[in-house]
Amino acid sequence: MNEISPTIVLSGLIVVLICVAGYFIKIRRRRQRIAAGAYDRPTMTAVASGCPVCGAPQSPGMHFCEQCGARLEPPVAPSSCPGCGNRVTPGERFCEQCGTALSR
Ligand SMILES: [Zn+2]
Ligand SMILES: [Zn+2]
Repeated sequence: MNEISPTIVLSGLIVVLICVAGYFIKIRRRRQRIAAGAYDRPTMTAVASGCPVCGAPQSPGMHFCEQCGARLEPPVAPSSCPGCGNRVTPGERFCEQCGTALSR
């Protein structure tokens, strides 16, 4: 008697189905988690223009936060030499590269 019992075949099939279903459910859950995380993450642009302490959006030109009163550091002016375009250390009066007087 080499005949395989149908119950064994059926149970084997069920085990395979459960494994496959579990695999797909796992992938689906991971995708949902990734999608949810992407929506929860704040955008970098909102942080860049906001208060460094409370994150409230600030209008340009303000020296103190409208929400918490924290001092807002003015954005560092592009410190490059007008003569040669060399990067200049803030506070320097003359360009290290070409000697051009830096208006500060
Ligand atoms: Zn603030
Ligand atoms: Zn220069």
